[in-house]
Amino acid sequence: DLSNSLAAADIAHSLHPYTNARAHEDQGPMIISRGEGIYVWDSNGKQYIEGMAGLWSVAVGFSEPRLKAAALAQMDELPYYHTFTSKAHAPQIRLAEKLVEMSPEALTKVFFTNSGSEANDTVIKMVWYLNNALGRPQKKKFLARNKAYHGVTVASASLTGLPGNHTDFDLPAIPVTHLTTPHYWRFGAQGESEAQFTARLLKEIEDTILAEGPETIAAFIGEPVMGAGGVILPPEGYWEGVAALCKKYDILLVADEVINGFGRLGTTFGCESFGFVPDIMVLSKQISSSYMPLAAILVSDAVYNAIADNSAKIGTFGHGYTGSGHPVACAVGLENLKIIEERDLVGNAARVGAVMQAELARLADHPLVGEVRGTGLIAAVEMVADKAARTPFDAKLKLGAKAAEFCNEQGLIVRAIGDALALCPPLIVTEDEVREIVARMERALDATQAWLAA
Ligand code: PLP
Repeated sequence: DLSNSLAAADIAHSLHPYTNARAHEDQGPMIISRGEGIYVWDSNGKQYIEGMAGLWSVAVGFSEPRLKAAALAQMDELPYYHTFTSKAHAPQIRLAEKLVEMSPEALTKVFFTNSGSEANDTVIKMVWYLNNALGRPQKKKFLARNKAYHGVTVASASLTGLPGNHTDFDLPAIPVTHLTTPHYWRFGAQGESEAQFTARLLKEIEDTILAEGPETIAAFIGEPVMGAGGVILPPEGYWEGVAALCKKYDILLVADEVINGFGRLGTTFGCESFGFVPDIMVLSKQISSSYMPLAAILVSDAVYNAIADNSAKIGTFGHGYTGSGHPVACAVGLENLKIIEERDLVGNAARVGAVMQAELARLADHPLVGEVRGTGLIAAVEMVADKAARTPFDAKLKLGAKAAEFCNEQGLIVRAIGDALALCPPLIVTEDEVREIVARMERALDATQAWLAA
């Protein structure tokens, strides 16, 4: 039948991102053929709640007619034009205006790319260009964190702090120092309070800056709440402390809001949730609900002016993509942001998110669960072998992947990050639906426990 022949064709012709290719050849793909609201259907007709909004990204759900209409209208009017050499078009102009209106006041100019990886790559080049222009080319290093996810291009993968993105590719390829993951439950020392943990991490950052020399450190990059590293919420006071250190040592602060941005935490941007204002903010995913590939970099006046002055001096800012500010992507992005505002999806994330977090908190009593963590409409439930000692399961068991399979059986798509199950449903999700999500996850945890016992 069709789905079998599609699966065979996929095995024959595709190399998938982030896949064990040999296992894929054996098992074949899960082919998703249709989406509506928070649901998707596979090619066998089975319905799932998309508990991850695709890749943390489909804010408005999988069937928003206004995004389809915006894309079609732009295809009719002007399907493509570029933005090089001062060329411009309305969708790019209007979206940049909208982003500046929505974002913290200090961020005033926008540069577009196709993906989050390209955006972070662009940030690195912007920061280097700027420091060269300011006559301090040695100020090049980035500070990032272990378990950070900033993308997969050669430079953005260097910022990423997950071992699988480095070792097998001979990365990092740029000067970057990875600091302790700000996860109190996992990395807090015996008897250490949360405040002491924060102080220890801030001291580690300051010691690193002083050891390497502030004149060599260009920028600190971080996700306000880490996503792909396992949904990690920083300890109290962490971001205020990081922002103060960046100011003290003249280091640019970059907020990677590719997952957090546009309501995920119940605030428009993650930096608002933690009381800091970055010099540079990176946005993607929910910017267009991923109906079109699109990312944006917002910069402060100071960053913009340093770049602008130098481009005046040497004649150009020599960077940009064929798809920078793609008109169809920008038209879809603008309509998507209007929907997020009109339907108050940020408020919905806060209200329904509170219900989701309260429901998930019940799972902390489950025998397999070590920590339930989250805020707004993002969360993770981490399984451990020993609850009190927080001892992880043997990684060879691949318990997280097994539990994610049991979630699939229950009709719920989640992401296994090690033994943590991540949730990040579309922002349109309702209270009844988050109760259903948690009920399905609970049944999957029970099934996982039974499988372990067998
Ligand atoms: N930054 C963060 C925080 C991300 O979560 C991601 C992707 O998941 C990226 C950057 C990279 O974005 P892309 O996959 O569009 O290159």
